[in-house]
Amino acid sequence: MIELTNIVKEYQGAGGAFRAVNDVTLTIQTGEVFGIIGYSGAGKSTLVRCINLLERPTSGTVRVDGRDVTALTGAELRRERQSIGIIFQHFNLFPSRTVAQNVAFPLAKLGLSREEIDARVTELLALVELSDKAAAYPEQLSGGQKQRVAIARALATRPSVLLCDEATSALDPTTTHSILSLLKQLNRDLGLTIVVITHQMNVVKEICDRVAVMERGRVIESGPVYDVFANPSHELTREFISSTSTLTRVNELVAEGSPVVALRPGEVLVRLNYQRRDVNEPIISSISRSFDIDVNIIFADVEVVADAPIGGTVAILSGTRDRVDAALAYLPQNENVRVEVIADAR
Ligand code: ADP
Repeated sequence: MIELTNIVKEYQGAGGAFRAVNDVTLTIQTGEVFGIIGYSGAGKSTLVRCINLLERPTSGTVRVDGRDVTALTGAELRRERQSIGIIFQHFNLFPSRTVAQNVAFPLAKLGLSREEIDARVTELLALVELSDKAAAYPEQLSGGQKQRVAIARALATRPSVLLCDEATSALDPTTTHSILSLLKQLNRDLGLTIVVITHQMNVVKEICDRVAVMERGRVIESGPVYDVFANPSHELTREFISSTSTLTRVNELVAEGSPVVALRPGEVLVRLNYQRRDVNEPIISSISRSFDIDVNIIFADVEVVADAPIGGTVAILSGTRDRVDAALAYLPQNENVRVEVIADAR
């Protein structure tokens, strides 16, 4: 649906040209939810604005649904923009217009009759579950409701792509969840291709099929969300992942000398991370039974990402020395888990 090829976007600054986007090539498939994650300033917004030509790339090509949009100007470009909706962090609603008028705004230019516009607005408000707010003004709505209005407005012209620029960053976790559920539902029901840019890993986990990680204008890693989560190849990606996992907290507890992770002689503190989506064997109980050792779980953090469990556990292994040694020798042979010894009192 979207093919970005060698996209460069430079801004002229006092010190010369600055590359906000530096040679990005990405393909986004029809009907997928694609995430672009990175810290503030990484170039995510600039890249996404190149898709609907809110920004014109300095070089490179953007193809949407097979058309080279970088070649379009004037009326053709305006028509193309109708097939790409966009929503923003701060909603960007017109404060002096009602909810219905906000949603109707993009329809006014299409030459539809009053009745056709009213019918479409009614349909859109039902889609985002705000039928009862048609006559309200934006200031009378919660943040989540404002974003629903923005979504309805973005979908008014029946776009095939929806760009979401930090769409949940101004919302609390519960509201974030409800907006993400709505986006997922629209993706499934309408076949809408969605591009989500965010600095929050939980957003990627919750709705994205594939993800690209951006740093200083470049895409440093990309792939199916599960694969990137289970086997991050870049330090920045590991940072994002650990920001939502308690499994890395154990290193702080060890450094602080916390009694939670204090080992008795002969014990070993290990972290086990799931590596593959087909993990279904009972690793903990099987090593406990096979090697006759105790496995005391300190943390467990297992979530479902892309319909497969991901995460792991931090545990203390205890038993006689030879049995603990045998368990530690056995664990790495299982290619479904990655084993790290965090502290060793053998
Ligand atoms: P992100 O969305 O990842 O936070 P942006 O795409 O907004 O990043 O910005 C990337 C870089 O480009 C930043 O350093 C930002 O200051 C710079 N930038 C963005 N827009 C402009 C502009 N219109 N003029 C000059 N510099 C800009």
